[in-house]
Amino acid sequence: MKLRPNPIQPLQRKPDEILRANEERFRRYFDLGLIGMAMTSPAKGIIEVNDEICRILGYERSELLQKSWAEMTHPDDLEADVAQFNRVLSGEIEGYTLDKRWICKNGRIIDSIMAAKCMRQADGSVDYLVGLLLDVTERKRAEEALRASEEKYRTLYDSIDEGFCIIKVLFDERDKAVDYRFLEVNPSFEEQTGIKNAQGRSMREIAPAHEEHWFEIYGKIALTGEPIRFENAASQLNRWYTVYAFRIGEPQERNVAVFFRDITARKRTETELLGLEVELATELTAMTRLNEFSRDLRSNTELESTLQWALEAIISLQNAEFGMVQLYNRTTQALEIVVQHGFRKVFLDYFSSANGESSACGRALRSKQRVIIEDVLTDADFALHRDIAASSGFRAVQATPLLSRAGEVLGVISTQFREPHRLSSRDLRFTDLYARQVMEILERKQTEEALHSTQAELAHVARVVAMGELTTTIAHEINQPLTVIVTNANACQRLLQADTVNLNEIRAAVTDIVAAGQRAAEVITQIRNLLKKRSPDRIPLDINELIREAIVLIRHRLETHKISIRTDFAPDLPSVLGDRIQLEQVVLNLIMNGVEAMIPIDQRPRVLTMRSAKDEAGNVLVEVKDSGIGLLTTSVEQLFETFFTTKPSGMGMGLSISRSIIRSHGGRLWAMENTQHQGATFQFSLPRVA
Ligand code: ADP
Repeated sequence: MKLRPNPIQPLQRKPDEILRANEERFRRYFDLGLIGMAMTSPAKGIIEVNDEICRILGYERSELLQKSWAEMTHPDDLEADVAQFNRVLSGEIEGYTLDKRWICKNGRIIDSIMAAKCMRQADGSVDYLVGLLLDVTERKRAEEALRASEEKYRTLYDSIDEGFCIIKVLFDERDKAVDYRFLEVNPSFEEQTGIKNAQGRSMREIAPAHEEHWFEIYGKIALTGEPIRFENAASQLNRWYTVYAFRIGEPQERNVAVFFRDITARKRTETELLGLEVELATELTAMTRLNEFSRDLRSNTELESTLQWALEAIISLQNAEFGMVQLYNRTTQALEIVVQHGFRKVFLDYFSSANGESSACGRALRSKQRVIIEDVLTDADFALHRDIAASSGFRAVQATPLLSRAGEVLGVISTQFREPHRLSSRDLRFTDLYARQVMEILERKQTEEALHSTQAELAHVARVVAMGELTTTIAHEINQPLTVIVTNANACQRLLQADTVNLNEIRAAVTDIVAAGQRAAEVITQIRNLLKKRSPDRIPLDINELIREAIVLIRHRLETHKISIRTDFAPDLPSVLGDRIQLEQVVLNLIMNGVEAMIPIDQRPRVLTMRSAKDEAGNVLVEVKDSGIGLLTTSVEQLFETFFTTKPSGMGMGLSISRSIIRSHGGRLWAMENTQHQGATFQFSLPRVA
């Protein structure tokens, strides 16, 4: 219970008439019953009550007139009431107000605000007191409930992890929010923001990390009352918050309650995860591309297009604008640009000549290490080339050497960027993987070239050996026309010595001589061709004619071994592009193998079938079929291995050389066992001239 701070001040004594007049007015209020009213005299106790008082205290009027105030007053409030009453009696005050509790008839305790005013007699003694009683129990309860609920919320706000504050938004006369004050903050507020003693202070002054649009949001909520939830970054603090804000209290108070939570850690994880996802996706794409590249490499045999392809892949991987692949020429001891992307010719000429010096590629060549220049303007070693870099349009460059397994630099792959550029470790890693692939192609090419020259050597040896074996054939082939020539020449002599010269016969003999001479010359030319050591050249060839020529060389051998030859040539065969000698050697090899396979056969005819045809793709197909012993191995592929032989004096080189010759012509050579008749069949196909 508390005393109201302003006790009603003593009034000047009033004349009796005024008192009566007052009483009149007073009576009206009294009867209106809006407020509990009672009149009590010090001598007689309660002398009058109105209905409202009866309602409040729960007594009948008659009962109340019998009662004393003191017995209905809550014992705790009695003393204060009596003290004030005595002050009135003593004339010290004219009245007083008091918060006091009453005990009702049913024992219920009610809260009231009581105002007492005394009416005096002319001599100044108290005539009676008018008491006004306002039942504030409900209001009190509501207040208490409010306090309790406020307390409850307070405990809640104090214990939650979310930062909480109530902000008062101050507006100017044009409803523009001008300032924001913290009315309340909870402990988490301080923890999360690091701002101490915020209460009562301006947000702009103590929370500068708040960006302008946050203020705008609070201003809008204060005006419209629309709650809002948002996520935002306090960029100066480098932190992220999720914020829930709503208007609180009476609209005109323009207070905004804000809950917020620091989600920086979650955001970071999210960003990291997102980054990781992007990273993984990029990695996967790069891997897939690399994989496709290395798979396609196997089918692409053309060096230049392969290098171009690799370069494009690296450029797209690194997001570069320019690039080139240079190969090291051992003879000139310089790098030569083989393929490039994006450069104009004038720069290419410059780069070709400047490689030995301090250029990135030149450095990579000499150091055998990757050279990265993130910005040509700041790299001192690159000073010499700055101008050319500027005019060709690049600011950054990387040059990766192509190192062979033996540690030799075979070339350099470089890429250039328009802007200063730093390559990620992934880009570098993948660049290395591409470089390794390129390096493998180069090494393979080198090996292939070495193999080709060895094969050419071997082919030559084989030819010489084959020629040795063919000596008898050759002797026969030349002997035959020689015999024809000699015989016919003799005949001519005889005819000329005769009495009557038979010109017709002589003409026929001379024609035979010429034909035989030509034939012999042809044989010799072919032998010379076969024995010549020369690099292959490609001309359009009629394969049927080529087979016929080969048969000419071998005919004697066929006859010796009583081998009959059958030919089945397609008449409309397209030409093939190839080296006559090499292809003839293949045909000869296959025929000789067939012959050798048939020599042991006695029970059935020895037949060699030579066939030419156009296959489904329109390419030229050649078949050499024998009725010999058949293939003596279960693995057909084994026959084509170098040095594989089943013959006591065999070299095991014929088929392997033949296959590599056919392959170098873009064709295929394979073997199969005959199904119906015993023996074997060898076939090769060659692409026709486009
Ligand atoms: P070589 O004739 O010196 O053995 P090749 O490379 O020409 O070398 O042939 C390898 C092997 O393939 C022969 O030893 C033989 O076993 C087998 N071969 C080749 N041609 C035939 C054929 N027409 N019939 C049966 N076997 C064959």
